[in-house]
Amino acid sequence: MPELPEVENVKRGIEPKILGATITDVTFSEKVIAGKNSGKATIIKGTSLETFKERTNQYKIVQIYRRSKYIFFELEKNNETKIMMCHFGMTGAFFTVPELEDIGIETHKKHWHVIFQLDNGLKLIYTDIRRFGEIRALEDLHEYPSVLKIAPEPFVTEAYDHYLDKILSKKFISKPIKVGILDHTVIAGCGNIYACEALIRAGVLPTRIVSDLTQIELKRVFKEVVQVLQDGIDSGGSSISDYYNADGEKGTMQEKHLVYGKKICGQCGGTVHQQVIATRNTHYCPNCQK
Ligand SMILES: [Zn+2]
Repeated sequence: MPELPEVENVKRGIEPKILGATITDVTFSEKVIAGKNSGKATIIKGTSLETFKERTNQYKIVQIYRRSKYIFFELEKNNETKIMMCHFGMTGAFFTVPELEDIGIETHKKHWHVIFQLDNGLKLIYTDIRRFGEIRALEDLHEYPSVLKIAPEPFVTEAYDHYLDKILSKKFISKPIKVGILDHTVIAGCGNIYACEALIRAGVLPTRIVSDLTQIELKRVFKEVVQVLQDGIDSGGSSISDYYNADGEKGTMQEKHLVYGKKICGQCGGTVHQQVIATRNTHYCPNCQK
């Protein structure tokens, strides 16, 4: 699943190609149309396909930014503004290409779902093999209030105080530390891979209950989350299974993983253990983590 570093790399990849361009047509795949007709809302959520088109077609893309694992597109037409937001689910991706045929990865080409024709000759194409992704076109963010509850970006100064405040609250204090750091109201954008990698670097077992951690350990966990997310961004993301950035390239962060997807701990050479915590398969080293 694309986490913050992967989404940041997608954003950086598409931004120079689509910023300032106007959307001149929007096309949906048969799966999206059939999903809407059967009430399943495949990928396009929150509005009808007609409304989605009305809120995006003929609009100019005036700004693109990432928050947590979402990409936001600010759209403008005759002083009217809309916000399009995208979450990639498990296997979503964007490609910016002249034609659909130019997507070099067969599985993604085959599973295209939304094509935005741009006035600069490119198409912005959303592909999604497993179709857990979401795209919404909003009048404003208040139409989808859960995004307003996302923690500050982990790299800004207020993020640490926010994290301490949230993780020590009633909701998380009796929960395993991993559950806390996976919640985007506590830290923005840290998914399963980066949570596992941050916890081994902090030397803290994922099952430890928040109230049992010392202040120093809590601080170390936060610092390591920020560090692995930054390393992930700098490495072009972790390419596990179907993740590609917008140029169809894979990242290299997986080469730096110490436990996630590993059998042998990258730090001590011991056996990596696995355990399901809050439905997520957690990788950890009992030797390096206490
Ligand atoms: Zn180890």
